Amino acid sequence: MNCPKCAANADEWAYDDGKRHYTARSNGERVREWMQDVGQSTPEAPQIPDLETARLRYKLLSEEAEEACDELDVLSMNIDMGANQEFILRDMRKAGKEMADVLVVAYGGLVALGLDPDEVFAYVMEENEAKTEHAVDRGDGKRVVPPDVKENLKAETKAKLERLVEGAG
Ligand SMILES: [Mg+2]
Repeated sequence: MNCPKCAANADEWAYDDGKRHYTARSNGERVREWMQDVGQSTPEAPQIPDLETARLRYKLLSEEAEEACDELDVLSMNIDMGANQEFILRDMRKAGKEMADVLVVAYGGLVALGLDPDEVFAYVMEENEAKTEHAVDRGDGKRVVPPDVKENLKAETKAKLERLVEGAG
């Protein structure tokens, strides 16, 4: 597999030559494989989770979200106080790490429900992108999405997700 950005041969994110290359796997696939390696359940199709799984996913996501918010709070305060660059860069590093943790547990939560994280993510982004496409100038230069268009797009996403979870056992 060649990195699509630089054509270097790279099956993973690799740092051997000091550069980052793209992995052949999506983030969703990567998290799914990792969950299998650590013995977590990764249903192939949508599946109603047991109570323990549902509570675990809640706990993981809320803990990581709180950690990310704490770091973003520190970053905001230091920017507000005009802290020196060294501190700001440290805060960015820490906030970045915690936000990536949130991604891991969010992808993991979808996997645990038997949902394909890449598919669900695509549906949500398709709605966001369509909103941008359908935005119109309301007359003062600000672009807004007409409420009926917004409602339709929301309903479309809902229908796609309903189809996805249909038949979950
Ligand atoms: Mg964390």
